[in-house]
Amino acid sequence: MSQDTTDQYGFCTRAVRAGQRRTAEMEQSEALFLSSSFTFETAAQAAARFAGEEDGNIYSRFTNPTVRIFQDRLAALEEGEACVATASGMAAVLATAMALLRGGDHIVASRGLFGTTTSLFSNVLPRFGVETDFVPITDYAAWQATIRPNTRFLFLETPSNPLTEVADIRHLAALAHANDCLLIVDNCFCTPALQRPLTLGADLVIHSATKYLDGQGRCVGGAVVGDRRRVGEEIFGFLRTAGPTMSPFNAWVFLKGLETLRLRMRAHCDNAMALADWLQHQPQVKQVHYPGLRSHPQHELAGEQQTGYGGIVSFELEGGRKAAWRLIDNTRLLSITANLGDAKSTITHPASTTHGRISAQQREASGITEGLIRLSVGLEDVADLQADLEQALAACC
Ligand SMILES: *Cc1c(COP(=O)(O)O)cnc(C)c1O
Repeated sequence: MSQDTTDQYGFCTRAVRAGQRRTAEMEQSEALFLSSSFTFETAAQAAARFAGEEDGNIYSRFTNPTVRIFQDRLAALEEGEACVATASGMAAVLATAMALLRGGDHIVASRGLFGTTTSLFSNVLPRFGVETDFVPITDYAAWQATIRPNTRFLFLETPSNPLTEVADIRHLAALAHANDCLLIVDNCFCTPALQRPLTLGADLVIHSATKYLDGQGRCVGGAVVGDRRRVGEEIFGFLRTAGPTMSPFNAWVFLKGLETLRLRMRAHCDNAMALADWLQHQPQVKQVHYPGLRSHPQHELAGEQQTGYGGIVSFELEGGRKAAWRLIDNTRLLSITANLGDAKSTITHPASTTHGRISAQQREASGITEGLIRLSVGLEDVADLQADLEQALAACC
């Protein structure tokens, strides 16, 4: 099944089969090519490959058959023309910026991005002359007012981390295109199983494959999906030269993860919905943030734009950091870790971990309070997760 024929197949078929190219061994499961370089029949063939006149493998910094299967499969799922895999999600964000921006350019990004992305935009890119302004994710007038003649990217995560705010991708795509900008969506929380930003008008999709694409907390990786020119040539060209490439082993883990993505995401959504609903009735809990709840300000938009509400739930406790840390320390089943998108449920205190390195003002502006807890709801029995939170809540406040 080549990428050209993916249109005729449904999502789950693509997730299992897209991109596979069997070797002469006729393997059923995709092969793992642990080979840093590839050989040529003749000197002339080597020259043709290096000159780009002949397709084929050269060197695994930029061409590897296992990585290519992962890339083609993810492109098919996101409905993009091209995908490049990167060493991490952050490498995907960096490669996109380095390939498509130059000194003097400007980014408008949503507040409450993944903390390291905020750091990259606020602390690293300015040294290369690229400035970023942050706006509240659902304040469309602020997005518009912040765009300048030199703005190149509108960048967001929807739903946002950790508050699960949802922005209208179609609306922001129209705004981006009216101003000669690209709309870039970090689709980490939904994955293509729940949301396909390119079909809603976004130009590029960023992934941290580390999260749901792996789904079992094993490998670090990332990807960018979009059109052939920007992704297949410009971002690929940067990667080939600068080197933050995905390892074939990690690509192999991720491409097997994609096979079960839809099934896993449905189960994450079901468990998260049940816990969010239960949490909102607990007296110690001030507020629950989950797009599946009717009380969520963008509940309706999430229902239109996504085919599920996702696996991330956050909630605020009365009693600030002290209560939050006590709750976390009293859990027995949930893992205390900053990772998300794992089969194992995780619990995190964003203000002191994932968002600890951004300034207190930025945190405040993003609504990441000291009493906020983030759950990445895993695939355990939801009754066990609820019981664990119930005893921890009773002990903490
Ligand atoms: C984790 C994460 C990233 C960064 O990905 P890494 O693989 O950790 O480099 C980017 N965006 C979001 C939304 C994330 O959750």
